[in-house]
Amino acid sequence: AKGGGRAQYRFYSGEMKEGAKRRRQIEEELRSVLDTDQLAMHYQPIVDAQTQMVANFESLIRWHHPERGKISPAEFIPVAEDIDMIKPLGEWALARACRDATQWPDDIGVAVNISALQFECDDFPSVVRTVLSETGLSPSRLVLEITESVFLGGSNRTQRKFEELKKIGVKLALDDFGTGYSSLSYLRTAPFDKIKIDQSFVRGCTEPGNNNPAIMSAIVNLADALKMATVAEGVETKDELKLVVDRGATHIQGYIYSPAITQDNILERAEKGPLI
Ligand code: C2E
Ligand code: CA
Ligand code: CA
Ligand code: CA
Repeated sequence: AKGGGRAQYRFYSGEMKEGAKRRRQIEEELRSVLDTDQLAMHYQPIVDAQTQMVANFESLIRWHHPERGKISPAEFIPVAEDIDMIKPLGEWALARACRDATQWPDDIGVAVNISALQFECDDFPSVVRTVLSETGLSPSRLVLEITESVFLGGSNRTQRKFEELKKIGVKLALDDFGTGYSSLSYLRTAPFDKIKIDQSFVRGCTEPGNNNPAIMSAIVNLADALKMATVAEGVETKDELKLVVDRGATHIQGYIYSPAITQDNILERAEKGPLI
């Protein structure tokens, strides 16, 4: 038993070393990834629950590494935030998404994930303005998805930034609602157009005795009262779809309709007819 403990310890520390090594390599490679063609943008449809039409596509960044294969944004975005690469990476993503969206049918918008650190940069509104004018995308077709963590930075400057962005004419969505440092006070003054109900509330929502449907109804009712739309994220099954539509979500996103697809794929489908 004694030896077993030690072996376990050694195994654990070996794993830690592997993890730290991978992390260091990802850091190094991230610094120059914009000079390669390893990044791609994929797009997942967000469907209007009433009309069943695609309302927007959410842009989701992809890193295809020549040796390591696909690296998930859930892994490398936090690293980019740590090493001060999120601003250039985020600007690349915003520009690519807006440029691609100009080739879609013009009633379809694009939702772009914005890191809190990117949002906090003083020049963020002017970056948005520049990208819109350079790509020619109509501001009303751009949705910025931000998470509750933008409110941690505090008060006045954040509020001014929201106002500046509304003046530009873009839309704002509160992403991953209910998972972070949720406080209803954020909704009092921030001009959100949309609340995205995190997929953790959708997962398992059809199982008996689950609290998620009640929470979902409460979020939808709150959003309705504030004249905000609601996107149910991560809907995978027919039962989940039925439940979230019954609970009043105005929009649906999830594998039940489609995972994120390439720009080429969108353009091919748009030629043939319906997008989903
Ligand atoms: P998110 O913004 O919450 O994006 C939704 C995630 O859920 C995406 O994962 C999407 O592929 C996944 N998803 C969608 N439908 C389903 C479903 O039915 N079932 C399941 N199991 N998953 C589903 P992805 O693409 O791996 O992105 C992970 C996170 O990385 C995103 O979470 C977002 O926080 C971040 N991210 C992705 N692209 C960008 C970007 O361009 N900029 C920034 N700052 N963050 C990004
Ligand atoms: Ca998102
Ligand atoms: Ca989300
Ligand atoms: Ca998320």
